[in-house]
Amino acid sequence: MINYSQQNIDEEDIEHVLNVLKSSFLTQGPQVSFFEEKIKEYVGVSFAFAMNSATSALHCACMALDVGPGDLVWTTPNSFVASANCALYCGATIDFVDIELDHYNICTNDLRKKLEKADSQGLLPKVLIPVHFAGHPADMQEIHRLSKQYGFYVIEDASHAIGAKLLTKLIPKSQKNAKSENEQSDEDHIGSCKYSDITIFSFHPVKIITTAEGGIATTNDPELAGKLNRLRSHGIGQTTAPATKMEEQPWRYEQVELGYNYRMSDVHASLGMSQLRKLDQFVLERNSLADYYDTKLEKSNLRLPKRAKNVVSSVHLYPVWFPSKEQKLGAFKRLLSENIKTNVHYIPIHLHPYYYNLGFRVGDFPKSEVHYERSLSIPLFPSLRLATIDRICEIIMEVTVE
Ligand SMILES: *Cc1c(COP(=O)(O)O)cnc(C)c1O
Repeated sequence: MINYSQQNIDEEDIEHVLNVLKSSFLTQGPQVSFFEEKIKEYVGVSFAFAMNSATSALHCACMALDVGPGDLVWTTPNSFVASANCALYCGATIDFVDIELDHYNICTNDLRKKLEKADSQGLLPKVLIPVHFAGHPADMQEIHRLSKQYGFYVIEDASHAIGAKLLTKLIPKSQKNAKSENEQSDEDHIGSCKYSDITIFSFHPVKIITTAEGGIATTNDPELAGKLNRLRSHGIGQTTAPATKMEEQPWRYEQVELGYNYRMSDVHASLGMSQLRKLDQFVLERNSLADYYDTKLEKSNLRLPKRAKNVVSSVHLYPVWFPSKEQKLGAFKRLLSENIKTNVHYIPIHLHPYYYNLGFRVGDFPKSEVHYERSLSIPLFPSLRLATIDRICEIIMEVTVE
């Protein structure tokens, strides 16, 4: 069975994990901080805290920003439910901003309008959680500008987007009128938090790199860092007890707030360390497989996913739009009958029964709803063979011509 995405584990990964299994620490040993150091270096950020899932990291991020009852949190409906659930864990109120239809990310025009209205009603959000859908970065510069104008925090749900980058062309003053070959390209890795307060990555096996289960939160803010570190481990932090007390009770530790056990184990972190070395290669391979799909499906009547020139997408997903929902269902069934499992990203969050019960309705976010109706994520992962892509494209072409 071929899935829409899957992990890529090699002998090196297995050896790495085996070594940790034979070591003295399965958890709370050195591997987690090694992994965090490597992630910090890779994305260019000051702090990183590994956790047992991206969901836990999203929860801690909301708690670190003091999200609570009475607060509003906004995200996009075109995401996994965890992007919204984190706000509800904290007792906050969730609302959504619809997507744009180029990259299926949060629509900054809709966001601007919603903020203007919310401002006039005194109902501005405390936190916005943009999602880098399919690994394609959202418009972070504009989101950042709006966050300063209206005074809200930003948590990037980059579960799909480790290895993705924003490219900003820097033109040296002396060469202002020179041709583009002389431009210097500057890059910001997603996770650098240049335009946000906290960024979250997921290491679930379908994502770009894996730790089996796992996630991480990055930030540049020392105060948020302290909170994230405590909240993932029961709320136990560095002791504030005076030295004399520590001398009397050298075993002492102190819980200073209510936290959870959301820690990543050393076994999981060791897999992450090993996977991280292959991240750039995985992203390159995902991009070239997407290029291959692009050429293969160029003449079809599908709408293909776009990649903007000023970003590097990690291409977590390859969502194609069918001309009709009937053709999409036909393709899903035909592919499944040949052991090729596709998926839909996403059932709009507001249309899940739980969210329906909170008062959301069909028609609330029409662009996310039409995307759900038309799109199908076809397989894309580094070890996917070109012959399999050929077969997938053949089936899709047959179905859409019928
Ligand atoms: C996978 C995913 C999550 C949750 O990640 P876990 O590590 O499985 O908790 C959150 N948000 C998005 C957009 C995801 O794709």
